[in-house]
Amino acid sequence: MPTPTTADLIERRARLLGPSYRLFYDEPLHPVRGEGVWLFDAEGRRYLDAYNNVVCVGHAHPQVVEAIARQAATLNTHTRYLHEGVLDYAERLLATLPAELGHAVFTCTGSEANDLALRIARTHTGGQGVIITNFAYHGVTASLAEASPSLGRYVQLGETVRTVAPPDGDDLDAGTLGRRFADGVRGAIADLQAAGIRPAALLVDTVFSSDGIFTGPRGFLQPAVDAIREAGGVFIADEVQPGFGRTGEAFWGFARHGVVPDIVTMGKPMGNGHPVAGLAVRPEVMAAFGRQCRYFNTFGGNPVSMAAAGAVLDVLQQGALQANAQAVGDHLMAGLRQLAEKHALIGQVRGAGLFIGVELVTDRARRTPATAEAARVVNGLRQAGVLLSATGEAAHILKLRPPLVFERAHADLLVRTLDDVLARL
Ligand code: PMP
Repeated sequence: MPTPTTADLIERRARLLGPSYRLFYDEPLHPVRGEGVWLFDAEGRRYLDAYNNVVCVGHAHPQVVEAIARQAATLNTHTRYLHEGVLDYAERLLATLPAELGHAVFTCTGSEANDLALRIARTHTGGQGVIITNFAYHGVTASLAEASPSLGRYVQLGETVRTVAPPDGDDLDAGTLGRRFADGVRGAIADLQAAGIRPAALLVDTVFSSDGIFTGPRGFLQPAVDAIREAGGVFIADEVQPGFGRTGEAFWGFARHGVVPDIVTMGKPMGNGHPVAGLAVRPEVMAAFGRQCRYFNTFGGNPVSMAAAGAVLDVLQQGALQANAQAVGDHLMAGLRQLAEKHALIGQVRGAGLFIGVELVTDRARRTPATAEAARVVNGLRQAGVLLSATGEAAHILKLRPPLVFERAHADLLVRTLDDVLARL
């Protein structure tokens, strides 16, 4: 069969999948194969994947593929039978988390994990109110779409949802930024209470990726966590983006801030592309939900998913990929900061490990978003064979989240290509 043209595929997508799907890039990419940090298109051209945080151990990692195939050829059922797979993985997962988080619950997507976390938080606290950041994304379910302002201006925020400004203050000390962010949370709590709504949870992505990647000075989260607890709510750390070693400094994003969440939700990199997600929770926070509700998720925690997730942990640990994220992330960040000396369009370069934001601005002092330029850079990089995207409310912050097997040479290639694209802008 001849390879379909880009135009054919776009037409079929629109006809078959309908109007809600969106493609990346002015010239959409049609990858047919992935390996390590590379994607290959139908013509055999390779692209450096600096964006895909799902495949944390690299595209098509043989150890993960083998684990999935082996388990799929043996048994795949659900969690209403006894099986060691889910227990072995729960044990290993909980060992990466603070001892206070004693239970693990498995889902298939990050959305389901956050949705369940909200139900647990609401049952435990007796409250309904949820506090999120201004441009957060937390998932696709009804309860999360109304707590995901980044979905667009047509999304109606829930009546029980309040937003706070994200902790934008890379140049501040942790105390100042922490107080500022916590003041916002206290304001949101007061607003909920004034409407007769009891706060249930503060729910944040601990690197604030949709808001613009705010990894800030370590430790700034604690005052906000204290504020929600004082108001009777719980702290839910959404680790779907930063979890599993990406930030280099810690295995979990919240750990950089020295806080212990009440619930931790996770997904994306957990199965290196296999759909497996879940949450970890303090037993005392889970207790009321457990008394009132049965939890069963047909695919969540199935033996194949657990085998995939276990193999990902193996590869992360054997390859010391958290340490690699730190070392290569530092190297990449240094290269990007050097580029900033040459290109006035680059403002702040911030991040942790292999989660980096490059703010593009038309005026450094005012930090005026260079939205149109960012779109040109993202598309220019795609043409030049490097894949990344932009984030933040003004879509002007380049978002770099390569697989954790990224090496210095890949970082150098990325920086060189960005240099060329900026020079030609
Ligand atoms: N939380 C965050 C912070 C996310 O980035 C995402 C996915 N982009 C989700 C939750 C939802 O995860 P999923 O797409 O697996 O449902």
